[in-house]
Amino acid sequence: MAKRSGKRAKVIFVVGGVMSGVGKGVAASSIGKILQARGLTVTAIKIDPYINVDAGTMNPTEHGEVFVLGDGYETDQDMGNYERFMGLSLDRGNYMTTGSVYKKVIDRERNLEFGGRCVEVVPHIPLEVIGTIRRAAKKADADVAIVEIGGTIGEYQNILFLEAVRMMKIEHPEDVLTVIVSYLPNPSKIGEMKTKPTQYAVRTLNGAGVQPDIIIARADRPLDDKRKDKVATFCNVRREDVISAPDVESIYDVPLNFEKDRLSDTIIRKLGLRGRGRKLGEWERLVSRAKAATKPVRIAVVGKYFNSGEYVLSDVYISVLEAIKHAAFAVGRVPEISWLGSEEYEKDPKKVKELAAYDGVLIPGGFGSRGIEGKIAAIRFCRENGIPYFGLCYGMQLLVIEYARNVLGLRGANTAEIDPKSKHLVIDIMPEQKEKLRRKDYGGSMRLGSYPALVAAKTVAAAAYGAKEISERHRHRYEVNPDYVERLREGGLVFSATSPDGVLMEIAELPRADHPFFLGTQFHPEFQSSLGKPHPLFLAFVVAASKRGR
Ligand code: GLN
Repeated sequence: MAKRSGKRAKVIFVVGGVMSGVGKGVAASSIGKILQARGLTVTAIKIDPYINVDAGTMNPTEHGEVFVLGDGYETDQDMGNYERFMGLSLDRGNYMTTGSVYKKVIDRERNLEFGGRCVEVVPHIPLEVIGTIRRAAKKADADVAIVEIGGTIGEYQNILFLEAVRMMKIEHPEDVLTVIVSYLPNPSKIGEMKTKPTQYAVRTLNGAGVQPDIIIARADRPLDDKRKDKVATFCNVRREDVISAPDVESIYDVPLNFEKDRLSDTIIRKLGLRGRGRKLGEWERLVSRAKAATKPVRIAVVGKYFNSGEYVLSDVYISVLEAIKHAAFAVGRVPEISWLGSEEYEKDPKKVKELAAYDGVLIPGGFGSRGIEGKIAAIRFCRENGIPYFGLCYGMQLLVIEYARNVLGLRGANTAEIDPKSKHLVIDIMPEQKEKLRRKDYGGSMRLGSYPALVAAKTVAAAAYGAKEISERHRHRYEVNPDYVERLREGGLVFSATSPDGVLMEIAELPRADHPFFLGTQFHPEFQSSLGKPHPLFLAFVVAASKRGR
């Protein structure tokens, strides 16, 4: 699209009411998608209200997956949804936390950039937020910037971000739209969908000086006219601005459902934009293809970050989950994913045999020692029984350890992350990382973001990628120890991709003649997969798994 120099992007704020986890990120992504389909250039920004400067230092069970951007910034999983839905490639300018905003303002104060003025929480913090939004929109030359504010209305911690909404709206009312994604419970004992929590949420938002323009009403079923009227009357919006958003089978249905309520027309009209066409056909085709699948492919994900109290949270591996789905849909299979805790195999080694019931096993990234021996037992079982195995990051490092121990006979082989005194440190800390850990420099200091790698010809990886040079996203401190590479190679393990200088082992695999699929990546392929473009390695894994499950 031709650049309109000096244009000011419209801004759509997406906030959440009633409770977390109602799909604000998917709603924001879907709004972006339907606006793109109308020929508009869109960018997306996520604001998280915690003090952590980035998401990298948080335990995933606290906050879900850490999504790594191409530039290496460690962010929230919603950034993954934005990239997957809108096909965007975002960077650190598209993400902020309370911590990162304060840090910027304080750094600027220390540099005397405020010229001796008194620097205050209001207006300087919201102004920094507004500045970040404007810069991101400008960089993308966006018609519309979608800004999702994390947390729920009524929380003390996102109030300064709502202040930014209020300030932007006062300055340019015609450019700013606020969408609240709320939840309408439907208690079985009452037998009626209740609007009151949403009314309270909107009233609380009003208390921050912000009136929503559109209400996305999440519920287990569509809103009837009566409930729509009620929400409209008590929340002070027009009935057609209440969008019914019932639970759906797949998150990819959401843009299509929004368009059933003609949401893009409403947004375009309210913001005075000009839409061109309505191109959701390809998306529709992909969604129907996914629905047409009937045969399952059964994938076991063996990990440890699943349990929160009595609940199992697969959010921790959301990108992995989506990448498996993308690949399964592409080959016409229904993904059936089971989350298995690896510690079980430590308590009861025989239990690992349960993996024989699956078509493929995947071990995602991770840190620390809990559940590691169980994962190694799972990898061994897959290798010895011809079960397709795909290891991501830690899952690749553990593949190498398993191979060193059980094929090369290197007893006690390990990673320096667990047993730095091991006689055979087949996985060791990267030299530049050693110094960082000594200085306790933990934040944003791993080997992060996109790096190129070269793929060796005639390997499983080469067949999957169909390319010699690839670029993938990383997040690790440890690597295959260069001192062991030759021995591992001689012992039959193939390093099918390396850093361009040949020092870092990026993919380890067994030849197809020896195993249907046994491959691990030092990087995280799951961060670059989407419905329309499944990641080639996930595709190869799911194809191998589907053959087993035939
Ligand atoms: N803990 C390993 C490392 O730091 C693997 C990291 C990961 O799986 N993301 O190298």
